[in-house]
Amino acid sequence: MPAYRTLDAIDVDGKIALIRVDLNVPMQNGKVTDFTRIERVAPTIRELTEKGATVALLSHFGRPKGHVNPEMSLEPIAKAVAEYLGISVGFASECTGDIAKEAINAAGKGEVILLENVRFNSGEEKNDPEFAKQLAALGDFYVNDAFSCSHRAHASTEAIARELAAYAGRNMEAELSALSAALESPARPVMAIVGGAKISSKLDLLFNLIEKVDCLVIGGGMANTFLNAKGINVGASLCEHDLADTANEILSKAAKIGCDVLLPDDAVMAKEFKANAQNRAASVDDVAADEMILDTGPKSAEILKSKLATCKTLVWNGPLGAFEIEPFGTGTFSVAKEAERLTKDNALVSVAGGGDTVSALAMADVTEGFTYISTAGGAFLEWMEGKELPGVKALNV
Ligand code: AMP
Repeated sequence: MPAYRTLDAIDVDGKIALIRVDLNVPMQNGKVTDFTRIERVAPTIRELTEKGATVALLSHFGRPKGHVNPEMSLEPIAKAVAEYLGISVGFASECTGDIAKEAINAAGKGEVILLENVRFNSGEEKNDPEFAKQLAALGDFYVNDAFSCSHRAHASTEAIARELAAYAGRNMEAELSALSAALESPARPVMAIVGGAKISSKLDLLFNLIEKVDCLVIGGGMANTFLNAKGINVGASLCEHDLADTANEILSKAAKIGCDVLLPDDAVMAKEFKANAQNRAASVDDVAADEMILDTGPKSAEILKSKLATCKTLVWNGPLGAFEIEPFGTGTFSVAKEAERLTKDNALVSVAGGGDTVSALAMADVTEGFTYISTAGGAFLEWMEGKELPGVKALNV
């Protein structure tokens, strides 16, 4: 793992900390509906304020594309952060210049100021060094606590780290050490479960994983493309017929490298894509022309779980079925429960991430039981694809 400085390496008393956080939180009618992202950055903010720093928070919100858009102001989020942390959080209506400077200078030791949406400035997404300099001029040191934004080379995630001494925040540190434990220096054997809708969005991921893991489980709609490539008729299932050659290439590369690929033997199928549609479990060789595979079958779920019990590390992205509609989450939830049980027994390190995966694991009620669940969608996937994340690289010492 690349070396980066953590908050242990700095005396922050009396200094101004510029922290990049991800406060791009879900909102409805001006109210934050999910506090997970605030919860994740709270330890860093608390630690720095308790140690006597003045904290200035940098974040984006939505996609204002370089223009001021009052609907994407961070102002209401300052209140939500204040409520969550139980401290007052000031707000500066600009993220650079005199307005930002005055707000920060007026704040005392241990106080927090949230600066306006960095994406109101066109320099942010262009990774403009001038804009990064203007941001850097506000603080004494920089902390990146937004792993979920670090796959983008933006001024507040990348260029700024060249202007100030840069540190990984506690959330970033937790994310990097969990991800490193899962793929860089994992306890073996390692199983990866990749599910979800389409392989076209996860080709880089599959090619990278077969080189790194001992066992690759392909599930969800993606498995249909592989079954079809093997000559199995998948009926009306979601399937990328044009990717049959690519799927076969992945299978033959995996065989050459010695990565064991698990595809479902049986499946739960239905004629309608709706909750409680009439369904049946049968062999994948027995899909009727008008049927869709919507979940992994009970036999395949058992095979997967027995294999998982022989593994020491699990990394998971993508559900094994259309988990949002009853009862097609059954396979995903039962595997999730088994991963949770093995993790609680200290037999497994379990790391999962990606938007739908996080929802599926929350529905299975296993969020607390996994070793680490990353809420970073794009960044988690790019990291699993083996890509270097510019915001993380910028922290290297
Ligand atoms: P992704 O964003 O690629 O991880 O895909 C997640 C989506 O895949 C979820 O909305 C699931 O409902 C969907 N999905 C998983 N398995 C299937 C399946 N067999 N047929 C249709 N959709 C599926």
